[in-house]
Amino acid sequence: MGSGSFHVEPDMTLPEPGVASARERIASERADAAHRIDFLTARLADIVEGSHLSTDDDEHDPEGSTVAFERAQTSSLLDDARRDLDELAAAERRLDAGTYGVCEKCGRPIGPERLDALPAARRCIDCA
Ligand SMILES: [Zn+2]
Repeated sequence: MGSGSFHVEPDMTLPEPGVASARERIASERADAAHRIDFLTARLADIVEGSHLSTDDDEHDPEGSTVAFERAQTSSLLDDARRDLDELAAAERRLDAGTYGVCEKCGRPIGPERLDALPAARRCIDCA
């Protein structure tokens, strides 16, 4: 046992590399969700405005159903984006609290490949 065998792993000084990259990933997904919300909010306003312009038509508007469909679809995407943002914010709170990556139901660690696919996952694959 010589002193020459002693070496330090560079990663040892970091608290938890997995958590650090999860924070980065969540921050970027959160920015992306915020961007989607801005975009969809503007898109929805455009659709509503556009549908007002065509209400003067006496003829039954053949585009009416398309507008309604687009409006419903955009507003559902907007709901999804808001939900994503909420989930990502909750995941950030768990990172701060040190409970990130722990299944909220069974208390076991959530698999890294699951967290990789779904950084805001609250439950492990068995409890999902
Ligand atoms: Zn679980």
